[in-house]
Amino acid sequence: MDDQSFNSQILHTAYPRTDAYNALSMPIYNCAAFEFESAEAMELAFLGKSTDHTYSRITNPTVQYFEKRIQTITGAMSVTALNSGMAAISNVLITLGYAGANVVTSPHLFGNTYSLMSSTLAAFGLELRLCDLSNPKEVEANIDENTCCVFLEIITNPQLEVIDLKQISEITRRLNVPFVADTTIIPFNSFKAKDFGVDIDVVSSTKYISGGATSLGGLILDYGTFDWANSKKLRDMAQNFGPMTFTAKLRKEVHRNLGAYMSPQVAYMQTLGLETMTLRYERASGNCVELAKRLSEMSEIETVNYIGLPDNQYYEVSKRQFGANPGAMFTIDLASREACFVFLNKLKLIKRATNLFDNKTLALHPASTIYGTFSAEIRQKLHVSDKTIRFSVGLEGVDDLYQDIVQALK
Ligand SMILES: *Cc1c(COP(=O)(O)O)cnc(C)c1O
Repeated sequence: MDDQSFNSQILHTAYPRTDAYNALSMPIYNCAAFEFESAEAMELAFLGKSTDHTYSRITNPTVQYFEKRIQTITGAMSVTALNSGMAAISNVLITLGYAGANVVTSPHLFGNTYSLMSSTLAAFGLELRLCDLSNPKEVEANIDENTCCVFLEIITNPQLEVIDLKQISEITRRLNVPFVADTTIIPFNSFKAKDFGVDIDVVSSTKYISGGATSLGGLILDYGTFDWANSKKLRDMAQNFGPMTFTAKLRKEVHRNLGAYMSPQVAYMQTLGLETMTLRYERASGNCVELAKRLSEMSEIETVNYIGLPDNQYYEVSKRQFGANPGAMFTIDLASREACFVFLNKLKLIKRATNLFDNKTLALHPASTIYGTFSAEIRQKLHVSDKTIRFSVGLEGVDDLYQDIVQALK
């Protein structure tokens, strides 16, 4: 799909039914439950034999329309919207995992994802296997018959490591293991996960999609590419559901029981956010390229880590995977933790805040915040340095951002 039709599709995905008042945007169906004409119709809906909505923890028209738009622009077989990115990741791992199963992944993980795997789900018998995903031999050696998925983030945060996704998917295809990727960091207009062999895609829609940090949200995209007859846990279901096996397990059981569906108000805001996503992303990543370039010439900064700089070790692989727009997150290293704190405290325009891809530029010190409750040893294992500041670049004038950083470094 080219840019033109991608953006047209975002805006013009058809409504499932004509609105009674011809509303030009999908109304917010802010209700918990739906009424039925008859007991028979109610039975059909509860058995999943009609498309009628029953209860907004299961499906809701406003949320379903948001899911449909995402499906249209990504080519996913099914899309599930949840109330946060973490809810999306939890639902996927609980759908795939079981006591005695293992997840093969990298130590370079978002802090809460690492904690979910190493603590919350470990308590239920899921094993976390950390390896160097850039080393195919090591990945292969870690996979066995109880590997329920290989999981990675397409650009790790805050290390900004980029793995060759085709190399990973070659292994997962050959060994019949589902490939799950957290693709939050590059939006759908610039990265097509399906083309790189990702089977299940998880996204924090809090970030690019929400339209300026309006709300929390998460997405699970199932591309329908994995043969679930090869899954130790789901193979029995696969006889009935075929490529829909994962989605069926998720929607008919796990997601319903965990109760973390997106709310209709959030789906409304994120549908609007989606409409301007391409524009915002182009502006933010353009700003990021320019800012990183200018900062890499400043002697006060030890290193600028950004995959959009030609001397970055991931420049080529990033271009291959993410195209011309290499994202709106970068980091700098200063002399010490103290220097980072002094710098952050001097910022005037740039906000000291967590989150990514707000319309405003944000900065934080990952080691003392997102990774602050981890021990120094674990931070070292995850390669989270005390000297690093992370930026999420927004839509301001780039000169203003540059000036703010220059004055804060003085
Ligand atoms: C923010 C983020 C998450 C978590 O998403 P929430 O919406 O905050 O729950 C997961 N993965 C990545 C890469 C993120 O940036």
